[in-house]
Amino acid sequence: MAETTSILIKDTTIISDEIEKSSVLVVDDTIQEISNSLNDNDAEIIIDGSNKITMPGLINTHSHVAMTLLRGVGDDQSLQTWLEEYIWPKEANLNDELVYLGSKLAMAEMIKTGTTTFNDMYFFMEETAKAVDESGMRAVLGYGMIDLFDDEKMKSELKESEKLIKNCHQTCENRVSVAVAPHAPYTCSEELLIKSKELASKHDLKLHIHVSETKKEVNDIKNNTGKTPFEYLDSIGVLDSNTIAAHGVWPTDDEMNIIKEKQVSIAHNPSSNMKLASGIAPITKYLENGVNVGIGTDGVSSNNNLDMFSEMKLTAFLQKVNTLNPQVLPTKDTFKMATKNGAQALGINAGSLEEGKLADIILVDTLVPHMTPVRNALSNIIYSSLGTDVDTVICNGKILLENKELKTINEQEIIQQVNEKAFEL
Ligand SMILES: [Zn+2]
Repeated sequence: MAETTSILIKDTTIISDEIEKSSVLVVDDTIQEISNSLNDNDAEIIIDGSNKITMPGLINTHSHVAMTLLRGVGDDQSLQTWLEEYIWPKEANLNDELVYLGSKLAMAEMIKTGTTTFNDMYFFMEETAKAVDESGMRAVLGYGMIDLFDDEKMKSELKESEKLIKNCHQTCENRVSVAVAPHAPYTCSEELLIKSKELASKHDLKLHIHVSETKKEVNDIKNNTGKTPFEYLDSIGVLDSNTIAAHGVWPTDDEMNIIKEKQVSIAHNPSSNMKLASGIAPITKYLENGVNVGIGTDGVSSNNNLDMFSEMKLTAFLQKVNTLNPQVLPTKDTFKMATKNGAQALGINAGSLEEGKLADIILVDTLVPHMTPVRNALSNIIYSSLGTDVDTVICNGKILLENKELKTINEQEIIQQVNEKAFEL
């Protein structure tokens, strides 16, 4: 039996639903108590939280983490050109070792910038699961199925997803769960989409898919099906509260109603949408309609990093300039998107600091010039901080980063390995 571990984060500024000065006691994988009367005798490990902002670990709701290997590939292209001419030819050379290394590097980057959970869609996912096991992070992992309307390919893609569910769902002390991940309505046949939903329902899993990313996609789907992307997916029964739709940049009013009624979660990726010039997702409108929206980084080669702090700032700024209204997306709403909403989308008991929640917690250093003074901790987090201000990361009650040093990953070793191998692609 594993020994009980307890951690006390003392005298800290907590941002959760409200901002308060208090202490946090973690026992095993859970936040046991938040109170000012906790003291050093209450825990084995004491962390001085003064001069730190303590908040939930950030939740990246859309990623392809092993694409760290493709950092710098295909800059400044449209989605279609980027995918077809730059990314897919290189991805054809992926293997399990490369995906493991790329995933491990991504986890080093994510932990160092305060992400504790990510929702990933890619290939060789058992290797990513292995890296999650070792790194101590939490993840929802989906095998990215693409059949390009080929019947044999459809069958083999579904088999691959079934294998991942069998081998990885609810493993790593429950830190890993599996999602069914048909890539997009333009890369998957109708039958694959329908069978994906059946598979997800059978095992009670999330379904993770790219939807309505570009105008071209909307036009292509319309030409092929007579419907807009969300209408099409709804007509074949794919959408419900277990669906995580990445992007959702171009919804019509009718689609907005479908998304709302079916309680689909949207994963918003501001950097990727800007870099690929896909468009500006109407996040303000989604939120007004009560749609659950989380934030994601997408893959590194359309970002080009995994820093959720910069995604928060861009999320807010992009809506303000798009609506010409500085009052939209106030700090509280943006913070909620990167924490609570992400947890809701992925169905995990995290995303806020409350007693009984999973102990996924980060501490951000405030004694740096760009965080001084702290008039409003939340404002500093959304608008001033950099991911690299993260000092301590706790996930599932285990310390993964301490004094900005990784505890579960050998940082220099993984950097060296990726530098040696990435160019094989
Ligand atoms: Zn993506």
